[in-house]
This record gives sequence, structure tokens and C-alpha cells, in this order.
Amino acid sequence: MTELWCEHAWLGGDEPVGSVLVELDGERIAAVRAGVAAPPTAERLAGLTLPGLANAHSHAFQRALRGRAQQPGSFWTWRERMLALAETIDPDSYLRLARATYAEMALAGVTLVGEFHYLHHGPGGARYDDPNEMGRALLAAAAQAGVRIVLLDACYLDGGCARFRDADAEAWAQRVSALDGAGAAIHSVRAVDPAGAAVVADWAAARGAPLHAHVSEQPAENDFARERFGATPAQVLAQAGAIGPRFTAIHATHPSADDIALLGDAGATVCMCPTTERDLADGIGPARALAGAGAGLALGSDSHAVIDMFEEARALEGGERLASRTRGRFSAAELLQAATAGGYASLGVRDGGRLAPGALADLTTIALDSVRTAGVPPAGAIFAATGADVREVVVGGRRIVRGGAHVSIDVAAELRAALS
Ligand SMILES: [Zn+2]
Repeated sequence: MTELWCEHAWLGGDEPVGSVLVELDGERIAAVRAGVAAPPTAERLAGLTLPGLANAHSHAFQRALRGRAQQPGSFWTWRERMLALAETIDPDSYLRLARATYAEMALAGVTLVGEFHYLHHGPGGARYDDPNEMGRALLAAAAQAGVRIVLLDACYLDGGCARFRDADAEAWAQRVSALDGAGAAIHSVRAVDPAGAAVVADWAAARGAPLHAHVSEQPAENDFARERFGATPAQVLAQAGAIGPRFTAIHATHPSADDIALLGDAGATVCMCPTTERDLADGIGPARALAGAGAGLALGSDSHAVIDMFEEARALEGGERLASRTRGRFSAAELLQAATAGGYASLGVRDGGRLAPGALADLTTIALDSVRTAGVPPAGAIFAATGADVREVVVGGRRIVRGGAHVSIDVAAELRAALS
């Protein structure tokens, strides 16, 4: 039994509480007691301990675009750079880049990543001997970095590059069925027709697996869906049977009022990726309206222009403020919920994202004595901390970050090597 004594911990209420003893039994939390003096046998965690952070939407390879795709233009000109990058990656370089990227996430306090994976095949679309070789590289990368992963294998049938595409949705299903524990994704209504989306939705339903899709990221995607199908992207996906409690809409930046009601009534999750959406000039999604309609919220760093879940959470609120000219659209507890339990639920990891008996022992501790957080009350830390303030990270009872350093990876050196 490992004992961790937390100076402050957020146990899911409106504010953190002090002097919390968390007892771990293997990969799970056995007991949580507040207002307890530190036993001499316990390891002391100074600062504020949170449930592990969930990064619910990642494309690991896009870490290679950071700082290299800032030319004037739009999402669509950025996309050209992304497609050119995708042509250059092989399973070995993918493993190195993803391992370093997931280790960067670990340093930022991320304990669970949802990898939305569509870079499946070799150059020109040639199949690897194992058609899931690229997906297995991602699974290995996360295991080596110590971060929990849900691989959301994305069906991609039309457009993009040949490396993304399976012959049809049945071929996608056959390939992904060989990947134990995989979740499902429909890349978007641009890339998967309604019949294909229905096949993916059925595959996920049969397994109770999480199902994600990019939804209304761009007005042009809405225009495409209206012209081709006479419906919005969310309506197309709903008609395909995709939208329900296991479904997560990525972005939902430009939904209609009916789409907001549809996603809320279905009890779906919406994963906002505010730092990517602002980097790509996508717009500001109606997060408060979606939450008010009943949708869950999660957060993702998506293109990894930034990997910092505190920044994502603040940007969720900040975007709302800019759009509404009203402050306090989300409470600190709601922002933390999106960064933790909301992401775990989106990825189908229902027993994580909270500090409670029986939950997975995934914890992140931030310093309250850094230049950013000194003098900040624990309840306000989410408005002050950055990923650089993360000191300790535990995943499944295993330490992966200690004293602000990864326990086994020189992260900056590995990023530099992977990107050289
Ligand atoms: Zn994405």
C-alpha cells in the first residue's frame, strides 16, 4: 500500500481541500481521507493534487508542425502542410516522435491520451505486413512514456492522402478488429460517407467502444454536408446511428442550434480543442450552450501547437468571455471536470478522472510556489498554472514524473532528435 499525503487536493467539489491522504493499492485508489495529518510513512506531495489530466484529442504526428506552419492563410492552407508531413513518417520515426510527444504530455500532467489515429498505411497507401503497424507504434510509444492511451482508429475513405484510407468501411472494421482495446472514430463527414459511418457506428456499438468524429470544425464542412446530404454533419452522423452517450464530437465549432440540442439530448460529449482552434483560425465553439443543452465537455490539444491542459481549460472560458463579453461562464470546478473526468468518460475510461476509492490511481500534482502560482489560492490555481508547474504524475500507481522530470525520458532531447 502506497500512501500519498497531499497538501491540497481537488476531490470533485467546488474547491480543493487541505491535508488529504490518498492510499493506493496497486493501480487503484483504495482510500481518500481529508483533514488528516501526514503519517510519517507517507510520501508528501506539496502543492495541489488533481485527478490525472485527460488529453482527449491528439494527432501525435502533428507535433512536428509546431512553429513550422505559421504562414498566412486558413485551416485549409495549414492542412496542405499537414498532408505533406504525413507523407514523411514511417513506423520507426512515428514511434520516436509519438514517444517524445506523449512524454511531453506526461510532463504537462496528462495521464490519459485519446489518439485519433488516421495515418495508417505506407507510402502510396501500401499495406504494411501488419496493417496495424502504425497504430501499434502509437500504443508502444504511450506505454514507453508511461501514459495511458485509448487508440481511436479513424475510418478515412475519401480525400486526404492514400496513407489514411481503407478500401471501405468493412475493410476498416476488419483491420481494427485485430487491435485489442481500440476505440473507433469517423474522421469526418468529408472523409466517410453515411453508409460507412453506419458501419463504424455499428462496430463501436457492438463493443461498447468510444466513438469520436470531427464535427463542424469548419463552415466549409457544413456547406459540404448540406449540399451533399441536405443535413448538417451532426445530423448526418445521427442518421448513421453514431450519436449517443459513447459519442464525442470533436470541435463542434460551428454547430446549428438544432445540432446543439441534438448533441445535448443524446448525452454526447463535445471535445473542445481551443488552442488548436485559435491556431487554425477555426473560430470559437459554443461550449456553454452545449454544456447547457446536456453535452459533456472534454479537452484536447489536437495539433499540439501547445500541450498544456491548463491553457486549454482557461481558453475554454476565455473564448466564452470574448464571444459573450461576460466573465465566469464556467467555474474552476467545471473547467477541471472537463480536463479530467470529462476526458476519461469521453474515452470510455469510466473508472478514472477522480480522486475516489476504487478509481484508477492517476494523479497530477502542480506546484503552488512557482513564479506563476506563488500566492495564488488553491481554488484559483487553474487560472494561473501552466504545464510547466506540474511536479508529480502517477499513472496506475506508477510514478512517471518526479520533481518535474520524466522518470525515464529526456523529453527535450528526444523531441529534438525526433524532429531533426
Ligand atoms: Zn483533430
